[in-house]
Amino acid sequence: MPLGSLRRLSHPKLMAPSTFMRRPFSTTYTLSSRNYATVTSAPSPTVTQTVDLPSLPFGYGSYTPSSNKAQETPIQSIRIPRFASLAAERAFRKLHHAAALRWLGLNGYNNEGAGGHVTVRDPLLPDHFWINPHGKSFSHMTPADLVLVNEDGQVVDGQGGNMHAVNPAGYVIHNAIHRARPDVVAVVHCHSVPSKAFSSLGCMLEPINQDACRFYKDHGLAPFGGIALEKHVEGEHIAAALGSTKACILQNHGHLTAAKTVDGATFLFGAFDRCIQAQLMADAAAAGRAARGESTGVDTIKASEEVANYTRDIYNDEMAYIMFQSAFEDVVKASRGELALRVEGELPREG
Ligand SMILES: [Zn+2]
Repeated sequence: MPLGSLRRLSHPKLMAPSTFMRRPFSTTYTLSSRNYATVTSAPSPTVTQTVDLPSLPFGYGSYTPSSNKAQETPIQSIRIPRFASLAAERAFRKLHHAAALRWLGLNGYNNEGAGGHVTVRDPLLPDHFWINPHGKSFSHMTPADLVLVNEDGQVVDGQGGNMHAVNPAGYVIHNAIHRARPDVVAVVHCHSVPSKAFSSLGCMLEPINQDACRFYKDHGLAPFGGIALEKHVEGEHIAAALGSTKACILQNHGHLTAAKTVDGATFLFGAFDRCIQAQLMADAAAAGRAARGESTGVDTIKASEEVANYTRDIYNDEMAYIMFQSAFEDVVKASRGELALRVEGELPREG
């Protein structure tokens, strides 16, 4: 690692990681769910929602833009936007939800048929979440296809209210996480071949490269308790294992990720899967070298505690969102007009 990287470790943000990574919410909306006319069986009490909006100037660690004019031009166009209304925020979340599913389909994560699910908390009814309908191809998803369910698993919007519209295991797992983590907007879970293999080892992701450091001491491991059909059992075990982290290995099952945007959760899902693949390959190669007598041990080289912590802290929720935006653009432009790049009422973030 270059010496310059070590010097950056003294940045004030690193002295107080809790204020950098876990910024308190800055905006509170109060509204009545009765404003949402199409929900027929939703609760009627007034709902108070605390919305997470990044209030710190965003930057890349201690990097300071120079006086170069191009660098002074803000990157606001790819930052988490603001919204003119909660209705606009709902439209935004549904658009990006559909796009995230298309990206997952494009990358082979739809391979278990109905075995993958992505949920996004509703901004108008924050104890409800949107989920992909059971059996619908990820690759053709539109915002209109998404299904809104309440915390009792009742379909309150979409698919004609058909209870079979939602994968019950998806509801059980995701509902437990949305209830346990009010800071989380989106949860992504699909089955991949690498995660099926890795999750059988009972080990954690190790900081063997820069990208893996994103998850350093920031993911959990949930023991396998069978397919999650029993309400409040397997889902709660998984939510407990996830804790306050951004990802969880589901032993003998796969993995999931959670974030404050569906873009971020989807980016982290793919990133985690690629890190799993890298660790499996590196461990196998290291063991092969040791067996041939080409190395003295079987261990891979890990980033130091200090470097791994520093790198993880750079990848906050805003960064995870930004990392997905090129994929979002790809998906929208490949949709031939079925998805839009922006929704009405989506405003650029300032500062
Ligand atoms: Zn699963």
